[in-house]
Order: sequence, then C-alpha cells, then structure tokens
Amino acid sequence: MPKSNTAPTLEDYIPIVGESTIDELKLLASHLKGKKIQHINSTKVGGGVAEMLNRIVPLMKELGVDIEWDTIEGNPEFFNVTKKFHNALHGRSEILVDRDFDIYLETAREYNQNTKIKGDVVFVHDPQPIALIQNKKKFKNTKWAWRCHIDVSSPNERVWDFLSTFVEGYDGSIFSSPKFTRPLKIPQFLICPAIDPLSDKNKPLGKQDIDKTLAKYGINKNKPIITQVSRYDYLKDPLGLVEAFKLVKKYVDAQLVFVGNSAADDPEGAKVLNEVKEKAEGLDDVHILLIPPERNDVEVNALQRASSVVVQKSIKEGFALTVTEALWKGKPVVASAVGGIPLQIKNKYSGLLSHSIEGTALHIRQFLHNPAYAKRLSHNGKTHIKRNFLITRLIREHMLLVLALFNKGDIISL
Ligand code: UDP
Repeated sequence: MPKSNTAPTLEDYIPIVGESTIDELKLLASHLKGKKIQHINSTKVGGGVAEMLNRIVPLMKELGVDIEWDTIEGNPEFFNVTKKFHNALHGRSEILVDRDFDIYLETAREYNQNTKIKGDVVFVHDPQPIALIQNKKKFKNTKWAWRCHIDVSSPNERVWDFLSTFVEGYDGSIFSSPKFTRPLKIPQFLICPAIDPLSDKNKPLGKQDIDKTLAKYGINKNKPIITQVSRYDYLKDPLGLVEAFKLVKKYVDAQLVFVGNSAADDPEGAKVLNEVKEKAEGLDDVHILLIPPERNDVEVNALQRASSVVVQKSIKEGFALTVTEALWKGKPVVASAVGGIPLQIKNKYSGLLSHSIEGTALHIRQFLHNPAYAKRLSHNGKTHIKRNFLITRLIREHMLLVLALFNKGDIISL
C-alpha cells in the first residue's frame, strides 16, 4: 500500500499483480522511447474516461513514457449537441436538426485551431473531439487512434454517418467490446477499460472512514444499503431503480442510495436529478446524493464499501466502470445485461444480471436474503476483476497498440 496522501507508484502494485507484470510494463515502455503519446478528450472531471486517464497518465509517466492528456474546449450548446449524439449513438430516440450538426462543426473549427497536437500518437476519445482528425494532413508522421467508449452497434444512422466521415480518417479505432463495434474500413482494436486498485476510488479504506461518510449523509449503517453510483442520466435508469426499490421495500427494510455527480460535458444531469427527487418524494430511506468533487473519490469508495448490494440498472451502457469498482470491492452486484456489463458479470457466478425492474428487485432481494450466496458470487466477481480489469493490463495494451501502429505489418520483437 502507498503511504497515505501520496500517489501510488508502480512498486505498490507488485503485491496485487505480481512483479513480472510490472517488469513487463517496464520492458514495453523501453520500446516507446522517442515517441510522444497524447490523449485528448472533452473533460477532466466526471465519467469513466476521465477516471481512467487520471491514472493511466501518471503511471505511464513513471514508466518513462512521454505522455500528455489534453482536453478540447466546448460551450454548453456544443455539449448539448454531443450529449444528444451520445444518446442517439446508444440508440435512444433524439430529435436532431440541421442546426445541431452546424453547432458541432462550428465548435470543431474552434477546437481544431486551439488544440495543440503534440503527440507522435494521438488518442482521441469519443465523439466530442473526433473532428481533430482534420489536422492529420498537417502532422504527416503522427498516428491517430479513435478511442470509442460507446456502444455504437445500433446507432442513429444520421449521427453515425456524420461521425464516420471523421472515423475513417483515423489509423485505427479502439472499442471496449466486440459487441460495440460496426464495420469500418480502418483497423479495429479491442481494449477493455480497467480500474486502478490503488486510486482513492478503489484503495482499501478503514471502517472509520466508511462510517464517517455514512454519518455525513445520514445513512443508517445498521440497515441494508442498496447503492447505485452514476451520473444522473436517463440511460443509467435511476427512475427505474426507484421503482425496483419500491418492490424491494415491500419485503425488506432497506435503504436506497444514489451516488451521483455531474460530468462537465453532460448538461442533462440537473434535469434527471430533479426527476429522481420527484419520483422518490414521500418514499422512506431514499438518499439522493450529489458528491462534492473534492471529496468524490474517497466518498464514492466508502459508499460502495458500505453497500449491502450495488446496482447498475442501466438501459444502455458503455463498459460500466461502476460495476468493475463494486466487484473489485467484493460487493454483490445486480446489473442490467447491457453494454460491457456481461463481460464483467457471468450470471449467477460473479453477480446477477437483470432485464427488468421486477428482475432487478428480485435479484436484490435474493442477495439480501442469502448472505452466503452473495459472498460466493462476490468472491468470484473480485477474482474476475483481478485477472482481467486492473489498470496494469490496460497500460500494457495501450503500449502494445502504440507499437502496433508504428510497426504495421512487421513482427514486433521485444
Ligand atoms: N463516478 C463518480 N462519482 C459519482 C458518479 C460516478 O466518481 O458521483 C464515477 C464512477 O465511480 C466511475 C465513473 O464515474 O468511475 C463512471 O464510469 P462508467 O463507465 O460507469 O460510466 P460513464 O459515466 O462513463 O457512462
């Protein structure tokens, strides 16, 4: 464990992943000498992308890799449009008008002028900054990868047609699951997201820290706690979870805790939060929290650890890091069988997958009524995350990808 208040170093990961894993990372990093890697997305705060970049970047720096993380600038109008794109790519019905596409292109022109391209390899995350590829001609030796965190397998065609003109300019695309992809003319790579077991969000916490957070939010530590952590977003289905909770509450005197924040590039949050509050009005034991950014990671960690069951009742998902985080903490998880969730949960083995409000309620009750069953599944879940979804694997694959982009057609010998 790192000393408290200091960022974890590579050595701190050895007890978790083994020395050979860290040695391999060092070896791979040595092959990246002279190559600068640049990641570009649209926000430093909130959501899974920022969560991962926040940890990948310092750890790769420690490995000696020349790496930087930049964000594009956008205005609220632009982020309204990109949120609509996000929903439409996930297959949600959205009203899109010509003006939306113009707004996108206007901001793209601005960020193309204002964003400094510095990398030999540029990773561009999601649709917001995707038009950066228009700079490609100016940077002839640069390799460009589009990192898509969204499930675009059945998108709104208009949005996809618009974005695919940019996508096809990239040297490669990266998806989180084979199920998320579409036929493309450029190479596709598969890299699953991962969590950092030693970040403030996931590091072990003492009972005192957990109790302190519960007390701060008025949560009773002696009553079962059912928690969902996520941005306030329709696709995370907080409204459906309130319905499921009502069904649970008929049989078990439990509490429901929504742990949420708002991402800087997600303008819909306040509206959804209000709807959740309205829907939960008059219901006992529902806690709807907005976590302050400066305490976010430790408090989310504490609330996940305090939970009896963690739920992710999403209608659509990307990978769902919230599920990874909960499984890593040894929690029984009930989650919808959407997006990357089935990659993390094998039903009845490492958690319970649900398909409806009723199913979610039933599975929550199954866990609450049968602690031995909950313990067995959560143990399996933790093992699965340890083997597959920790940040060291993610860093390894990022470095391999950079090597692949520069050694197209050649065998890479390490
Ligand atoms: N998150 C957080 N505070 C909150 C709500 C969410 O730190 O109040 C984090 C959560 O712990 C996870 C990330 O935001 O690390 C969400 O990632 P996920 O892949 O689950 O969903 P996304 O927001 O990217 O759709």
